[in-house]
Amino acid sequence: MFPKSVFPDTAEVNADGHLVIGGCTAQALADEYGTPVYVLDEATIRAKCRAFVSEFSQRAPGARVAYACKAYINPALARVLNEEGLGFDVVSGGELATIANSGAGLENVYFHGNNKTPQELEEAIAQNIGWVVVDSFHELELLDHLAGEAGKTQDILLRVSPGIDPHTHVYTTTGILDSKFGFSIQTGHAAIAVRQALAAKNLNLRGLHFHLGSPVFELEPYRVATELVLRFAAEFREEGLQMQHFSPGGGFAVAYTRDQQPPSVADYAETICSALTATCDDLGMELPTLVVEPGRSIIGPAGVALYRVGAIKDIPGVRKFVSVDGGMGDNIRPALYEAQYEVVVANKANADPSETVTIAGKYCESGDLLAQGVALPEIESGDLLAIPVSGAYCPSMASNYNLNPRPPMVLAANGSSRLIRRRESYQDLMYCDVV
Ligand SMILES: *Cc1c(COP(=O)(O)O)cnc(C)c1O
Repeated sequence: MFPKSVFPDTAEVNADGHLVIGGCTAQALADEYGTPVYVLDEATIRAKCRAFVSEFSQRAPGARVAYACKAYINPALARVLNEEGLGFDVVSGGELATIANSGAGLENVYFHGNNKTPQELEEAIAQNIGWVVVDSFHELELLDHLAGEAGKTQDILLRVSPGIDPHTHVYTTTGILDSKFGFSIQTGHAAIAVRQALAAKNLNLRGLHFHLGSPVFELEPYRVATELVLRFAAEFREEGLQMQHFSPGGGFAVAYTRDQQPPSVADYAETICSALTATCDDLGMELPTLVVEPGRSIIGPAGVALYRVGAIKDIPGVRKFVSVDGGMGDNIRPALYEAQYEVVVANKANADPSETVTIAGKYCESGDLLAQGVALPEIESGDLLAIPVSGAYCPSMASNYNLNPRPPMVLAANGSSRLIRRRESYQDLMYCDVV
């Protein structure tokens, strides 16, 4: 059965058994743009944005949604997200430049990262970025100094680490004690940071932020952390900490495989907003503006990667390798996190499975396997494979390993498609080289 639940909203299988996304057949998209290609379904992107805005703002009036650019961003996508009223989370000067270049205002942009460089902070201040989320004592002093030199007062949040384990992959867990991110509440560093930030002449401390990790399939860690961070904040009321903003970060899970059932956006909103309201009530604290930062949950499910099958190697009694024309260069997640994906033969999308195969990439690493043990109909060279939920942390983490050009990005909607990033050429690969 076609796993519709992991494909974009508009995905369907037509009468010929071909996968259709945004009204375009995968076959036609592959013919027009070549493979590998990443297809983003515009309707799904917009629907996810609207779900976040509506589910959170109906429970916490004035709530803001800031899209986490590291999941994937480019100027055309930034325009779509800006049209939907989202702000942006950036983690580098490059992401900030991309948002500025898209024409979106920077007042709802939040600059994150555990080691922002002096140059990045100077650029952010010069462009009047809305918010810097300060992550370390080093940054606190540096930013205060740089804002002073620029003659400005910078609005900041402090990133605190609540010491809560969200039970996701260790490489994507960020809010525990043993993490490079944030000021730990447990060790007392967060308390020192609050006092230091309140005393900083050129910084305006307007609230606190935490981010647990990603993807977080459980609701309870958000509830516990929200309560804990607000109670921590309340201890500093007399010293002048006004919680105007509160951010529980992002990390909302998506289903990568048909058996996964993550909470809905409404479930996350209900958990976070009810913890926020109840705790503020209990503490007699005014409700801060809530800022949520989804990345994966907006762009992940909107994306489908299309690959062409080339070599097929059957090792009797061991395994059958089906090699495609992309791999770890455009999707490092299976190699990095043992991420799991569904695979569909886009030109035989309704056919019953008849064998179990491993999908291998074309890169010179034995670990370059996109999916293992997947049940597929009989595969032939030339078939088109579709890997859903590829919008997040695939193209954004892409590399030119083996000097393969990175694939194009296509936005599909209502039966038409447009290129929002072209395929790299060999010239692009050598663009920065000096001879
Ligand atoms: C990565 C990150 C996010 C987004 O995480 P997703 O899993 O993509 O939703 C949000 N906030 C911060 C601070 C992050 O580092």
